[in-house]
Amino acid sequence: MECDREYPYSEIPLGEQNIPRCPIDNGIIRADIILFGENLKPRVLERVKTLLAESDLLIIAGTSLSVSPTKTLIRHFESNKVVVINQTPLDITDLSIDLFISDPVGETLSKLDIH
Ligand SMILES: [Zn+2]
Repeated sequence: MECDREYPYSEIPLGEQNIPRCPIDNGIIRADIILFGENLKPRVLERVKTLLAESDLLIIAGTSLSVSPTKTLIRHFESNKVVVINQTPLDITDLSIDLFISDPVGETLSKLDIH
């Protein structure tokens, strides 16, 4: 979709054959997710870099960081507290890990008692 317009799920306009299409540019409306092999939008990448630089703690969950852009994005993390929740070791050497939890992410996060 060219115009980058966002639509709430309940207001997605349907075109011919019930294909969701933007009435402005006729582009196909799709979920705001990134599929494997797709690139993040530049504005999303910049926001992530800023958040990483401002964060005190980095939690890496459910990824071995073997693919870009996550593998290179973590270089923007400037603090030194790192927690990893992943069933396999990370594919990185330039990050000091304080806590490594080798369990499934869903099970681990569901055990958290957040107040
Ligand atoms: Zn559009």
